[in-house]
Amino acid sequence: MNPDLRFRSLAPWLRETFGQPIYRVALDAGSTCPNRDGTRGTGGCTYCDVEGSGTGALRTGEDVAEQLATGLKRIARREKKGQAVGAIAYLQSYSNTYGDINRLGELLGAVEPYLGGPVRCVSVATRPDCLTDESLQLMAKLSKRVPVWLELGLESANDQVLLDINRLHTLDEFFDAVKRAHQAGLSTVGHAILGLPGDGREGARATAEALAQAGCAGVKLHHLMVLEKTRMAHDWRAGNLEVLELETYLEWAADFIERLHPDQVVHRMTGEAPPEKLIAPQFGVHKTAIRERLTEVLSKRGTRQGSAYAGGSDALLQHQGTQP
Ligand code: SF4
Repeated sequence: MNPDLRFRSLAPWLRETFGQPIYRVALDAGSTCPNRDGTRGTGGCTYCDVEGSGTGALRTGEDVAEQLATGLKRIARREKKGQAVGAIAYLQSYSNTYGDINRLGELLGAVEPYLGGPVRCVSVATRPDCLTDESLQLMAKLSKRVPVWLELGLESANDQVLLDINRLHTLDEFFDAVKRAHQAGLSTVGHAILGLPGDGREGARATAEALAQAGCAGVKLHHLMVLEKTRMAHDWRAGNLEVLELETYLEWAADFIERLHPDQVVHRMTGEAPPEKLIAPQFGVHKTAIRERLTEVLSKRGTRQGSAYAGGSDALLQHQGTQP
């Protein structure tokens, strides 16, 4: 039996839904994004490194099909006692629905040989302002064969904060993207960052309320991390940027969890970065310990996921069925 974490975490949900352990294979398609090429902005979000918040795997010379084959071999080593493992093919880096539609078709085509086999789900990360009808149609077509999740970065529900971090999309664009994805039959996962400059504790709460209101079936949450080769690295070194202490993050994350819909699946509740890239904060504890500490905070408060849910997304969650 799973321990009561006081929030609905992804791994048990995956095991219940797919009947086997499921692992993520992160893929780097080397796409770009409108916030880097001048279409929407230049320089990218101030926290994003030159690898587009992704794996950087393309630098190894492997294309997406090769990365997927390598990743599937890696997770197959986790098989125990003949229990096969499954995979989420996760197109992570940059904005994967941006640009030439044929390119998205090729990326989604890379998973085809593994459908009915180890790939049990496809997840596509993008910006809310990069969702053309053509890209939705392509993903909707694939979703007839395998669950397709669309991962949309909101990060903050405050438009001024989004402007200040050079994110350059709005909350309304996020709501519109989620609505169109749901209409196309796709499931959505909304991303949030706690501790963005100017957002504060109230911002953390408002972002959770927005993700609940939007009806995203899944939510990814992490604290602001300052990485090398970002604009925030300069700000932090100049003493112009503060990051959250672990205790503060846990309190804010608890506020956040309380405001989600009880059925939303929490895919992630902390961030990780390679040690050579991470400047601050240095929590110095493993993500499992952070998760346990979050459960402790919720226990002490006598609350859990959904305790402070304000309503508004029941119909959408219902519409999405069981796919986060
Ligand atoms: S939208 Fe994504 S890929 Fe583009 S700059 Fe921002 S975080 Fe990086």
